[in-house]
Amino acid sequence: MRIVILGGGSSGWMSASLLARLMGNQLDITLVESEHIGTIGVGEATIPPITHFNKVLGIDENTFIQKTNGTFKLGIEFVGWKDPTSSYMHAFGQIGKDMGLAPFHHNWLNARSNGYKNDFWHFSLNYQAAKAGKFQPLPRIPNTRLPGIVHAYHFDAGLYAQYLQTLSTAWGVKRIEGEVEHVSLNKENGEITALRLKSGQVVEGDFFIDCSGFKGVLISEALKTGYEDWRHWLPCDRALAVPTENTSDIPPYTQSIAHQAGWQWRIPLQHRTGNGLVYCSDYLDDNSATELLLGQLNTNVIGTPKPIKFVTGRRVKQWHKNCLAIGLSSGFLEPLESTSLHLVQSGLVRFMKLLPNKSNYHAAEREFNRQSEVEFTRIRDFIILHYVLNNRNEPFWKRCRDMPIPDSLAHKIALFKATGQVFREQDELFTDVAWHQVMLGQGLMPEACHPLAEALSGSQTSDLFSSLETLINATVADMSEHTAYIQQYCRMDNPR
Ligand SMILES: Cc1cc2nc3c(=O)[nH]c(=O)nc-3n(C[C@H](O)[C@H](O)[C@H](O)COP(=O)(O)OP(=O)(O)OC[C@H]3O[C@@H](n4cnc5c(N)ncnc54)[C@H](O)[C@@H]3O)c2cc1C
Repeated sequence: MRIVILGGGSSGWMSASLLARLMGNQLDITLVESEHIGTIGVGEATIPPITHFNKVLGIDENTFIQKTNGTFKLGIEFVGWKDPTSSYMHAFGQIGKDMGLAPFHHNWLNARSNGYKNDFWHFSLNYQAAKAGKFQPLPRIPNTRLPGIVHAYHFDAGLYAQYLQTLSTAWGVKRIEGEVEHVSLNKENGEITALRLKSGQVVEGDFFIDCSGFKGVLISEALKTGYEDWRHWLPCDRALAVPTENTSDIPPYTQSIAHQAGWQWRIPLQHRTGNGLVYCSDYLDDNSATELLLGQLNTNVIGTPKPIKFVTGRRVKQWHKNCLAIGLSSGFLEPLESTSLHLVQSGLVRFMKLLPNKSNYHAAEREFNRQSEVEFTRIRDFIILHYVLNNRNEPFWKRCRDMPIPDSLAHKIALFKATGQVFREQDELFTDVAWHQVMLGQGLMPEACHPLAEALSGSQTSDLFSSLETLINATVADMSEHTAYIQQYCRMDNPR
């Protein structure tokens, strides 16, 4: 089968590398990209499943960090989201130790109602390590069966695509430089047959992967599949991105700082810090947004802010006929929980599981679209959660607090409030612990804890808490400093 990938951003090269690595012998893969058009140039914070993607590609972790000027990420700190003085973290990994049917936070809730003062994150190894500036790979807490550090990466998006390009071309992917000016369709069945470039070159294929970014040159402009607009739930529609100089101590976590009409990201890399502001143009004009962002940077600016417009939502059919949309062409959810590159990865895995019968795509297409709709809507709900549970006073935040929300999210919130429980459905990306953290962090306290937590006596609970505390503190104390770990094992190759 001849597969043609249009686009050489992160999604194009992730697609090329995964397909070539796993099926290079059976597929003939060509990637078309235009340096003149360029890539979006953002997308630098990830979530833990990216480590599996790299493993499948056979990439050594330290080499990867070196090649992409990367750093390690233990979670996302949300500053000012509940109210302007609050902060909490969505730390990856487990928190505490589950006791049977009632997850650990019920023990914490019960203790809290009896006067216990420490917060929930006291029992998160990832949080404690992040705040101490520590990192090292640690699959388990030593000498226990408790899970250890769970991590993801921050990296330079340009170097990431470049690195995957080197691997992909070594695995047989052909790269064509050029701009597509015409997409030829089969008159009978409407399938794509070829891409004609401005140079006159014609690139024929059996199956096309659209990684052309927001425009969706194939899935939207040529095949005219519709787009579901979610701005009524997620009203931010603009971003500004600007790098600044790096910091000498590199924090092992992303920061997301709420502002009057949106939020700012801070992504620490080895050679620079990535910064940006995501905002709602109904409440903040572009000049004020630029002024706001430039006034909130903690190191010197490199370059000028790059403006980006977007429409939050999803392509109604991400797979249509012989075309699959991957990356920004498939839809967009703001980068609050660093999910876009993950959606590239999961879309590719889903595609490979359903790899089409050359002459009959129909059933595979339907199943792909069904699963990806579920995935997108669950992530959408998780992102809305951060906005809807807020106590800020600005008009933007009041609107977010008062807006009607999807029933699926309203149910999750009501259930947590009444019972303290969250149920993760099927392949839902975010774990119940992730939901607990954002719900508690945004100030939603359950009205009751599970009776099983109440069955533990006060002394049993305090024994449990103090043994966890001792283990976590000792483990963090023994871990390497994040910056020192990078210097020793994976110092950047490209100090540009
Ligand atoms: C503000 C912002 C912040 C983000 N932050 C994160 C984050 O922290 N974490 C995360 O996971 N994701 C993030 N994302 C999403 C992430 O940037 C994208 O998912 C990722 O970069 C993939 O983009 P892409 O490859 O789909 O598109 P692009 O990078 O836009 O690449 C499109 C490619 O298509 C080519 N192309 C387009 N038209 C043509 C044509 N006619 N002919 C030939 N070639 C063409 C271009 O040259 C380019 O190579 C963010 C996005 C935005 C907007």
